[in-house]
Amino acid sequence: MSEQTATTNQPSGHSDLVADWDRLFRVFICPEGQASRATLIKYMDRILYGLNDFLKTNVGITEAISLKDLSERFTDTVINENPEKKLADVITCLIKDIAPHAVNVSSPYFVGHMTSAIPFFMVHLKTIITALNQNVVKLETSKVVSVVEKQVIAKIHRVIYNNTEAFYRQHVQNADSTLGVFTEGGTTANLTALWTARNAKFQPKNGFSRGIEAEGLAAAYRAWDIDRCVVLVSRRGHYSLRKAAGILGIGNDNVIPIDIGKNNRIDLSCLKRTIRRLETEEPRTCILAIVGVAGATETGTVDPLEDLAEISARINTHFHVDAAWGGPTLFSKKYRHLLKGISLANSVTMDGHKQFYMPMSCGMLYLKDPAALDVIAYHANYVNRMGSVDLGIKTLSGSREANSLILDSALKIMGAKGYALLIDHGIETAAAFAEEIKRRDLFELMTPPVLNILTYRICPPRIRAILNTADDDQRRAINEKLNTVNRRLQTIQRETGKSFVSRTTLLHNNNPNDAIVVLRSVIMNPMTTLAILNEILDEQERIFERELKGLLE
Ligand SMILES: *Cc1c(COP(=O)(O)O)cnc(C)c1O
Repeated sequence: MSEQTATTNQPSGHSDLVADWDRLFRVFICPEGQASRATLIKYMDRILYGLNDFLKTNVGITEAISLKDLSERFTDTVINENPEKKLADVITCLIKDIAPHAVNVSSPYFVGHMTSAIPFFMVHLKTIITALNQNVVKLETSKVVSVVEKQVIAKIHRVIYNNTEAFYRQHVQNADSTLGVFTEGGTTANLTALWTARNAKFQPKNGFSRGIEAEGLAAAYRAWDIDRCVVLVSRRGHYSLRKAAGILGIGNDNVIPIDIGKNNRIDLSCLKRTIRRLETEEPRTCILAIVGVAGATETGTVDPLEDLAEISARINTHFHVDAAWGGPTLFSKKYRHLLKGISLANSVTMDGHKQFYMPMSCGMLYLKDPAALDVIAYHANYVNRMGSVDLGIKTLSGSREANSLILDSALKIMGAKGYALLIDHGIETAAAFAEEIKRRDLFELMTPPVLNILTYRICPPRIRAILNTADDDQRRAINEKLNTVNRRLQTIQRETGKSFVSRTTLLHNNNPNDAIVVLRSVIMNPMTTLAILNEILDEQERIFERELKGLLE
């Protein structure tokens, strides 16, 4: 069938849906004339307000269409030869057909995950980034944006490390200095941190002239006469660290989970025991890094960073702090002390798309030593020339968007105090929520909030009393029943679609055979009030009374 017939076969009314040069040309040039300008502005209006209306009227996981039913609607695997729709129709379709089945993460009743409402202005900023379409991998495609990026990175570096005025004057625009890098997210920031630690450990030396990046892991281990590298992090460490160890060839078995002590922080004596055991029994094991968690994904808890820094310094190993979640707590004068010791870290991960309230996706890695990333530098002849300020020289990513413009602008619009207010609201609302959970008989607070995350579960007082005196086997059996109840509760509430808390599994006494299912709340949306959280608990009580009580009898 020739293209000609395909075109003439278009049903009438769609005859203008044809791909040809004339039309293609028009989508690449700025619209001429008031009429087409007005049309495009109208489209923007529909995007901003059409979506906003949708977000206002829908809550949590919207509509009761199952994922299976949805997936059956999306089975077309052929790309149309000619255009199917005009821009106007595509926008309508996205607002009317897609958005209603997406998740309204901006609802104040959506308190289950680290993805939430973002300030309205982020949509405007993102639009500007797209319109400019700078590529920050190199100066030749970004120019001033690369310079702005260095400046905003220095600003956040200062919040973490608080070095001298002279330090920042020297490094802020220095082509050789890297105070930090933008990444896709916390995962790639953590990967970059461990990559840096690995390459710093196995630098070129006598008999190993080109270093690990060139010669590989096996050659490095031979040259250092070791069998393996390990990374030490608490059981609350994010799984991205395991991914990183896998990718870097260290092996994710060698990310050693250290037990949790009281307060849900890393158990320091357990950490020291592990180090001593490795040093005495496994002299051919190298401790590559110790990772402190500042805002654990599951419980929001913060490791004792000062102690971890001291231990890392004593054994001369890289100290990384994963503050993907908790980092912006540093803006709060009231609560920044919770992250005390973070300035001692060799590297710090922070996520822009979490508590900087930026749109997806943006992560960052900050380095204490402005020369630390030299060990991962790559040069190519056509970009990233030696000695240039091309930001792609020391990043895992190649081409990437100008997230720095969004962060820089957001910091201007919000001020440090604006972010502090958000942080304070989250921490204080979570604390009040915890009191409410304790006040209600049906619930048991499992991990009290340090930042703005807490976990709890349904556990009626009668059962709690039994648990207090139960032996191991009895306790496990009871917990299994409670796990079923809490799992079902979370599912029923989610499917009902009015509100959303997530769930996760914690271990009793660090025992992998003793799992406890808990409900998890993340309070980051400034519109989430204690009254709303009470409504969520009310609903959970009702669901339990109506549907789940019998399971515990
Ligand atoms: C979210 C998170 C990560 C992973 O970040 P992504 O942006 O999802 O890649 C890593 N560590 C912690 C502590 C996190 O909360």
